Amino acid sequence: MNKPSRTSASGVKYIFVTGGVLSGLGKGITAASIGNILKRRGFSVNMQKFDQYINVDAGTLNPAEHGEVFVTDDGAECDLDLGHYERFLDLNLTGKSSVMTGEIYQAVIERERRGDYLGKTVQVIPHVTDEVKKRAYQGAQANHFDIHIVEIGGTVGDNEGFHFIEAARQMRLDLGEGNVLYVHVVFLPHLKASDEVKTKPAQNSVRELRNIGIQPDILITRTDYEVPEGMIDKLSLYTNVEPEAILPLLTVPSVYQVPLIMEDSKLDDVILRKLSLQANQQDNGEWLTFVKHIQEEKESVTIGLVGKYTTMLDTYASLVEALKAAAWQNDRDLILRWVDAEEIESGDVPKMLADVSGIVVPGGFGIRGTEGKIKAIQYARENKIPFFGLCLGMQLATIEYARNVAGIKQATSQEYIDEGDLDQEHLRDCVIHIMAEQKVVDKKGGTMRLGGWDCVLDQQSFSYQAYGQAQIRERHRHRYEFNNDFREQLTKAGLRIAGTTPDKKLVEIIEIPNHPWFVGVQFHPEFTSRPLKGHPLFNDFIAATIKK
Ligand code: GLN
Repeated sequence: MNKPSRTSASGVKYIFVTGGVLSGLGKGITAASIGNILKRRGFSVNMQKFDQYINVDAGTLNPAEHGEVFVTDDGAECDLDLGHYERFLDLNLTGKSSVMTGEIYQAVIERERRGDYLGKTVQVIPHVTDEVKKRAYQGAQANHFDIHIVEIGGTVGDNEGFHFIEAARQMRLDLGEGNVLYVHVVFLPHLKASDEVKTKPAQNSVRELRNIGIQPDILITRTDYEVPEGMIDKLSLYTNVEPEAILPLLTVPSVYQVPLIMEDSKLDDVILRKLSLQANQQDNGEWLTFVKHIQEEKESVTIGLVGKYTTMLDTYASLVEALKAAAWQNDRDLILRWVDAEEIESGDVPKMLADVSGIVVPGGFGIRGTEGKIKAIQYARENKIPFFGLCLGMQLATIEYARNVAGIKQATSQEYIDEGDLDQEHLRDCVIHIMAEQKVVDKKGGTMRLGGWDCVLDQQSFSYQAYGQAQIRERHRHRYEFNNDFREQLTKAGLRIAGTTPDKKLVEIIEIPNHPWFVGVQFHPEFTSRPLKGHPLFNDFIAATIKK
């Protein structure tokens, strides 16, 4: 393959972040935090995630198992770690930042079918690893970044991850010492019986990495217990990582503290030294002020989240962060009340929502729990409780209004009509549907509206007030749309169309006037919320709940 030479003209420095011992260590947060500290020292930093699953993209992964599907502005369906990267670096990534094994193999096999390998045997090394490296180089070159951080999903030693780790190894050979850095994140378990933190699994994991030929430059040790002094030296001796480059990372109350912990131990200096980089900027202290503010004692605000998955934070990762950020913008701490959409269906709605100041209905797919969500929306509308509906939440708010205000008693969404019943009779009451021009199914079977779309706002709306501008851009991930055949009937009944695409064809925002704050958006504003500034709609939603 065409690889950049050792004196690579692009001059990009690469940092690979791998994980060992066990999964769920917060490798994504660690990688994002490294990006954060380097960005604040004046470097332009890009990030990329390599995921070992043989899926071609994250769109088909079950959110209950794998966490939220994050969507980039250019419409790629990605792993939720991309959300951490965007939030920690205040950066809009592209689909190039998300690479899954399936797409690597697909590219290699397509090339083989075209005969591009000229009859050679196609192998993991070099063909699959070449494809992996190509993705890393392309990702890094997107915008002339100084530093490109690649997080390798999974744990070192997993069957499925070898080609990524092997490609990372080759890149140091290709680009030379000082241009590629390896960060390994491990776990130090604690034994209750002897009250000891143990290093053996971490040692073994480093050995596993060295078996492939990678000597980590930096070791980040995740732990729930204080690491005794001498332990760093011991780890250093066994892993061949210098003590200054071993960072004990205790579990902390807020993930946003992690960059500061790294800075306190001068990890930024270690990284810069190892990459022969000189910082050209002192940090402006914004992040420190932000973290101090979130740690301060504050009043709280309680928000009810009516969802299908009520125990899994990861399923609504960006939404939870957006709500927290908006609460902080309003000088409050967020208390989330998880409300089970299925339980509320037959439950006592006023009782289940008694102590919440605002109600959120998030995005979702499938019919399960929808009637419960509609009940919660009706309760919010009638009792003038601030309401924010996201994607599915907006569609269900439309259905609720159609049924209970506009008199379309059977109002529903085409999503809930069985395949065999897609005739005019059954589709008659679909206030949410698939538009005729959307029905063309592409090769992958996808009909979703994905990624960033422009939206024009009605100047007499909660939304315009929040954004303070007439045109905005937000990210989408849905199949169904507001049915324009009902536009007149619903607006006559009092529903406000507060935002549409610039050609006015697609309804993007609905609102209910004469209500403290009732907004449903067809898009996912949670993806563009940032910890330091929140998101205009979330900020105003929380402000409205406080006023109440
Ligand atoms: N299921 C709905 C649709 O496909 C909403 C999707 C979502 O909330 N992301 O249109």
